Amino acid sequence: MSSRIQGRIKGLKDVHLWYNSIAMDIKKIVRKNVMSLTAYQAKEVPCKVKLDANESPYGFPEMYKTLKYLKTNRYPDPEAAALRKAVAKGFGVKPENILQGNGSDELIYYLVTTFGGPVLYPTPTFSMYGIISQALGEKRVEVSLDNDFDLAVGPMLTALRQERPKVIFLSSPNNPTGNCFSSDRILKVLEAASSKAIVVVDEAYQPFASERGFIPLLRDYEHLVIMRTLSKIGLAALRIGFLVGREEIVNEVNKVRLPFNVNALSQTVALSAIEKKGLMSQYVKSVVSERKRLFKELSGIKSIVVYPSEANFILFRVRNSDRVFEALLGRGVLVRNMKGAMEGCLRVTVGTPDENRIFLKALSKAVIEAE
Ligand code: PMP
Repeated sequence: MSSRIQGRIKGLKDVHLWYNSIAMDIKKIVRKNVMSLTAYQAKEVPCKVKLDANESPYGFPEMYKTLKYLKTNRYPDPEAAALRKAVAKGFGVKPENILQGNGSDELIYYLVTTFGGPVLYPTPTFSMYGIISQALGEKRVEVSLDNDFDLAVGPMLTALRQERPKVIFLSSPNNPTGNCFSSDRILKVLEAASSKAIVVVDEAYQPFASERGFIPLLRDYEHLVIMRTLSKIGLAALRIGFLVGREEIVNEVNKVRLPFNVNALSQTVALSAIEKKGLMSQYVKSVVSERKRLFKELSGIKSIVVYPSEANFILFRVRNSDRVFEALLGRGVLVRNMKGAMEGCLRVTVGTPDENRIFLKALSKAVIEAE
């Protein structure tokens, strides 16, 4: 081997060693709040029936035809003007009241970045409120829900008084419990927060709920913000969420938004899907009616406790939940194991009638197998 090549290899080895030493040191320089953080658990698990992520079983594949005229060499519309206009019309607000996010996850980031902490939320709830607050180094204030999974107003108001949070997240319907919080309790939190904190009602699952949601209350409460997403109604792949609130709030949060956060493909496809409103609400209706059927069937299985749901998923408690989870997966059905957040519970997303049938059949066998 020539000395030149030998020299190069030696050089490469040196680079390798250098990388290793960086990897060793990295722990010393990562911020403490990030070091102790656990990343959001979202893995691709091979399965036949995917009922773990609260997605819609119905998509809009034909919408990709609208991409024909897309200019791939240009940045997307930074303001997502056409999309915000269409969404604003649907919500009965002005486009100035809407801010677009790369999923509502990103909007949670932006809200905490804009207003800071402490961040107050009931538990169990959507894990990203805690993950994002911790990532940004903000104090998390967690208050347990009551035994009916409703807001524990007393402790929430105490936390408000003592901790003085800047942002309060209320997921209603709540993930993973599935219920809506009582409106009067949400109102009590809103009243108590008055102008001291932003109250974010996360309505990711509102399209599946029997209640109307809080958008009409935006007129009465200046510190109220609503979050919506297209992820649960057939467009999870696009990553689009919206914040709805008064213009002054939208303008402040907009300052921390990355310039082109919603890509052109997503904007174009979402706009055409929204224009097909009829189809979207037909899909939602089908999920709601399947949820009712699924709830009834699950209630009929001995040894399972099923919790009522206003969302597109159902939470249930089962003996030997880890074993039931594995037995379901062994039959090709993936649900969410709530271990860590709600011991002994599994969460199943409502699928198509066929998927739900496969799930129910697999579950009745899995509970026996897991005994
Ligand atoms: N809020 C809640 C309550 C959720 O359950 C989820 C998704 N699991 C989100 C927000 C995030 O949705 P998106 O896909 O819009 O980021």
